[in-house]
Amino acid sequence: MYTDFQSYLQTTLKEIEEAGLYKNERVIVSPQRAAIKVNTGKDVLNFCANNYLGLSDNQELIDAAKKALDERGFGMSSVRFICGTQDLHKELEQKIAEFFGTEDTILYAACFDANGGVFEPLFTEEDAIISDALNHASIIDGVRLCKAKRYRYSNANMEELEECLKQAQAQRYRVIVTDGVFSMDGNVCPLDKIHELAEKYNAMVMVDESHSAGVVGQTGRGTTELHNLRGKIEIITGTLGKAFGGAIGGFTTGKKEIIAMLRQRSRPYLFSNSIPPMVAAAGCAMFDMMARTNELQDKLHANTEYFVAKMKEAGFDIKPTQSAICAVMLYDAKLSQQMAEKLLDEGIYVVGFYYPVVPKDQARIRVQISAGHEREHLDKAIAAFTKIGKELGVIK
Ligand SMILES: *Cc1c(COP(=O)(O)O)cnc(C)c1O
Repeated sequence: MYTDFQSYLQTTLKEIEEAGLYKNERVIVSPQRAAIKVNTGKDVLNFCANNYLGLSDNQELIDAAKKALDERGFGMSSVRFICGTQDLHKELEQKIAEFFGTEDTILYAACFDANGGVFEPLFTEEDAIISDALNHASIIDGVRLCKAKRYRYSNANMEELEECLKQAQAQRYRVIVTDGVFSMDGNVCPLDKIHELAEKYNAMVMVDESHSAGVVGQTGRGTTELHNLRGKIEIITGTLGKAFGGAIGGFTTGKKEIIAMLRQRSRPYLFSNSIPPMVAAAGCAMFDMMARTNELQDKLHANTEYFVAKMKEAGFDIKPTQSAICAVMLYDAKLSQQMAEKLLDEGIYVVGFYYPVVPKDQARIRVQISAGHEREHLDKAIAAFTKIGKELGVIK
């Protein structure tokens, strides 16, 4: 049996490779941070991590994790409702709710699970889920697991959303689902307009703040802060795996009855392990830090503004961004790969994206700015971009 299947896999893998879509992994041999070492021995500056606040190697979080490791052990060996809940997990859930101005929170092993487990327990075939076309894969998968009627509007297109809402009036309940920040462009969802339409057409709203939490809004509280909608959005999902330390863990936070129902019925919560105590403890320390100081958010915002301004000055075409994601538009797929490779030779680690990850002829290099970057890191990246950009005829 396996021989046939094996040759099928070999052929398919070869096709992926020949299409230039084979994903190779670069191996890092240092902690995740702005300046990293890769296994070729090269030191590079990292501009492609979701480490927006530079917390992946933060000493305060490491210390909190070590302390919990000593005091609370390594793992929980249980799902939450059997014997996988420590006070640390409850504390972290509370702190997440305080951070977002919501009523309650439920933790998951990852945001992929939070999104995978949020729709099916809440909505049935009588209901409607209205989803932005560029929503994250985990939202798409979560929606697939639910029998609700599906509607889709093109990215941030409010006319299309309104049309979907009109069509969905026959359904019992309606929920509009959107990413807070769309990861390929860095644009923030128009949450103010979405909320307005939701009010007008009697719908609820769910925002996935994975790329926006810690980043968007003056204090990094996400798109609800940016649009003055704190406490007004029914469901927020997010990750501890990006700005918030980058380890592991996801959550759904929002109205308390919704969270209570998820604790009863959400399958990735009921049938998957609890996050380790050290991760919960570091998460608590991280939210304490967020409550104490806005230093990292301020630095991230200043870094992003500086980088975008300097890159534009150099002549690069940067997509309008309200996040820490800067899409340097090159349009040509091959050029995006060439440029990323040459930048790596210059010690700048960035990734070029092209179709089908982004639309055809919309190839780009995605730069992710961090509070972990110092001014000299940014200057080095800008200089390298300028040098290679001229070499490849991207800028004059
Ligand atoms: C990264 C991401 C996720 C997945 O988060 P994990 O915690 O890594 O599973 C979900 N949604 C969005 C929008 C993301 O960007």
